[in-house]
Formats: sequence, C-alpha cells, structure tokens
Amino acid sequence: MYDNKVEVDYCIVGSGPAGAFLSYLLAQQGQRVLLLDKALDFNREFRGNGIYPDSVLLLKKYGVLEKISDEHISPIEKIQIFDDAHELLCLDFQDLFPDKPLPIELPQKILISTLVSMASQFNNFELKQGCDVFKLIEENGKITGLMAKENQQITLIKASMIIGADGRYSKIRDLANFSYQKYPMTRDVLWFQLPRPSAWPLSMRVAMQSGNQLTAISTCREQLRCGLSIPKNSFSLLKQGDISELRKIISPMLPIDKQIITEKLQKFDDFTLLDIFTTSVQKWSKPGLLLIGDAAHTLTPILGQGINMALQDSYYLAKAIEKSGNNNLAQFELQRKAEADFMLSCQLKQEKILLYESTVKLILRKMGYFVVNNSQIIKRRVFGKILHRLPEEHRVS
Ligand SMILES: Cc1cc2nc3c(=O)[nH]c(=O)nc-3n(C[C@H](O)[C@H](O)[C@H](O)COP(=O)(O)OP(=O)(O)OC[C@H]3O[C@@H](n4cnc5c(N)ncnc54)[C@H](O)[C@@H]3O)c2cc1C
Repeated sequence: MYDNKVEVDYCIVGSGPAGAFLSYLLAQQGQRVLLLDKALDFNREFRGNGIYPDSVLLLKKYGVLEKISDEHISPIEKIQIFDDAHELLCLDFQDLFPDKPLPIELPQKILISTLVSMASQFNNFELKQGCDVFKLIEENGKITGLMAKENQQITLIKASMIIGADGRYSKIRDLANFSYQKYPMTRDVLWFQLPRPSAWPLSMRVAMQSGNQLTAISTCREQLRCGLSIPKNSFSLLKQGDISELRKIISPMLPIDKQIITEKLQKFDDFTLLDIFTTSVQKWSKPGLLLIGDAAHTLTPILGQGINMALQDSYYLAKAIEKSGNNNLAQFELQRKAEADFMLSCQLKQEKILLYESTVKLILRKMGYFVVNNSQIIKRRVFGKILHRLPEEHRVS
C-alpha cells in the first residue's frame, strides 16, 4: 500500500557528498534522478571538510568551486606534526607539489547545497528531504524500487538502479542484507571549534603529547576545527567529571590563549563525538542496487579521506554509467574497492605509529619522522602517492 508512486532511472539515497555529487553528474547526463534524504536540511556541524587535491580538481572540472564564495574556502598550505611542542615533520604543499592545487577546507553544508542547486537546474532531477527509506522492493532477484515515508505519506519509488549513499550507518546496506564487518578503532574523536589566532598558519597541525593527540585545522571564517583523540567509549566517563579536566588535556597541545579555550569550551555540548570504526563490505552491489561512499567503506578520519573517497566514487560511477549504462559496474566496484583498501591500509599504518607507547618505539618514531622531514624526495614520494592519485586523463575537462 502506498500513497504516491514515482518512477526514475536512478534513486539515490543520501544527500551527503557522495549522493549530491552523483546526482549532479547523472542529472547532467540526462538521467532522471531522485535524491532522497531523511534529514530536512543540509546542516551538519562537524564532518570531513578537507577537500584534497584530486577532489579539488574534480570540483573545478565541473565548475563547482567557482560557484562558492571565497569566504567558505580556506586553503591548507602545510601539515605539521609536533611531539611535545617540537616540530617533527612539516609538509609544505606549495614547496613539494608546486603544480598541484592546495587542499582546501570547505564546509560540507556549503558543498552539498551547491551541488544540489547545480543539479536542480535540470528538470530531470528532484530532491525529497525528510524522506526515510524503510523497505526495498525485490522482483525476480533484482531490486526494482523502494518504499519511503515522508510526512506520514508512503511513496513507492521504482528505479532501474538504487544507489545507497546513506553514510556510515547505512540503512540500505542493512535492508539489502549486505554482509559486512565493523571494526572499532581504539580511539574516538571529540570535535570542537575555536577562533583562530591571527598569526596562525593555514595548516593542519597534529600535536602529540603524553599519549594524547590533537589535530587543529585552520578553516574558513577564521576558525580552527579541532579533533581530540580520546580512548574508545571514554566520553561518557569524561562527562561524569569536570570539563576543566578536558581543557587540561587540550591546552598543552594547542598554543593559543588559555582564556579563549576556557571561554569557548564551557560545557560538554561544545564537543561533537565521532565514534571511530571502519567497515568492510564484502560486495557493494547486487542486481539493481549499489553502495557508494561511507556506506560502502567507512574509513577513519586519519588523512581525511572519507569525503574525498565519497566524491571520487561518484565521479567514477558517473563515468562508468555514461560509458555503458548499468552493465559494467563490476569493474567500477573492483577498482574503487581496491582504492578504499589502499586508503584504509595507509590509515591503519599511521594510526599504529601515532599510538606507540614504549620508549623504544617513541625513539624510532622520532627518528623516522626526522628522516622523512629531511628528504624532499621521500616526502614527495610518500605523500604524492596518497594525495595525487587521479590519472592524468581525468584532470582535463
Ligand atoms: C562528526 C563527524 C566528523 C567527521 N570528521 C571527518 C574528518 O575530519 N575527516 C574525514 O575524512 N571524515 C570525517 N567524517 C566522515 C565524513 O564526513 C564522511 O566520510 C563523508 O561525509 C561521507 O560522505 P557520504 O556522502 O558517503 O555520507 P554522509 O556524508 O554520511 O551522508 C549520508 C546521508 O544519508 C542520509 N541518510 C542516512 N540514512 C538515511 C535513510 N534511511 N534515508 C534517507 N537518507 C538517509 C543522511 O542524512 C546523510 O545526509 C566525519 C564524520 C562525522 C559524523
């Protein structure tokens, strides 16, 4: 039983970076696209906002960045890693990769609303917000549609392909009975925002001290987007104590006026918790249905790859559909799965290094960073391999 019926070529569930970008790319190809999201707006406080060079190139290729005002975009010129206030590593992007664009900070809300407004230029695109999917329709072994609830009304959506872009807690993944494993990491992250001091560089600053770790990213509107690593599931315990204990952990790793930290971090609600886990989904597709973005591969925030992988999944999927419709998506899945596995293995290696505790390992870590920091060749090779993966033919418009 349903109240309304809609028929489209692609029904994309989830208007995060993956779903919004794919919607625009497919609408541009002339496909009838319906984008659904259970949320009523694009507001999202803390998310992956770091757009890395390959994704910057893709967003430029489609004229997305030129539609966004400069006040929302903040370039990241370098990454610095500190141990007990000593700089261990500095990656100056302009110096290392002068012919590549700089990474940028761009709030997800701005990126997504721009992509959706670009998709909305096409009559063959529709957005439905406040629309929660609760059932998939399967006929003769193929997913042919879904049922969603919106304002107490039930809509049946028939589509030649359903795309599950509904994030790390994907309902589509569960409704379709995809088998996957969830691996909790040993830490969670507490995100918070502080005003950026005027002399602060346009950087991502990672500080380690006495087993703690804090990342401070200079972002738009003169702000610092900060993430404090805490032991897994320890936030509820911290909340039973005094907030000043949390400020005491943060202060030594953040060289800014202590009074600002006290003023801005007054209550536990000033922090947003990110439960860190990864998921490994064995197969991302079945006839009529495909997962992309976090729904297919939840990563850790290390090296900020979640949003970039999501945007690139959409780009490659749209290319594959343009070339051969829904017929050759196995190749897409194979290539993107290999890419997600590569990113995850880089993240897990880095995570392991950051968690070293024994004196010997800490000395080895310092020596390792010293060697890398003093060789432009090693820096270019190691970080170029992670940051610049887009093949040449995809860079030109
Ligand atoms: C607090 C927080 C901080 C983060 N920080 C970082 C970071 O620093 N670096 C980094 O790389 N990554 C970070 N991430 C992860 C990053 O935001 C994601 O990797 C990225 O947004 C993935 O994009 P996506 O489009 O796949 O999914 P999402 O951005 O998660 O979008 C999924 C969309 O699906 C919608 N949805 C969910 N279920 C349904 C349903 N049943 N029906 C309809 N719609 C549905 C949601 O409302 C949402 O809009 C963070 C995530 C969080 C939550």
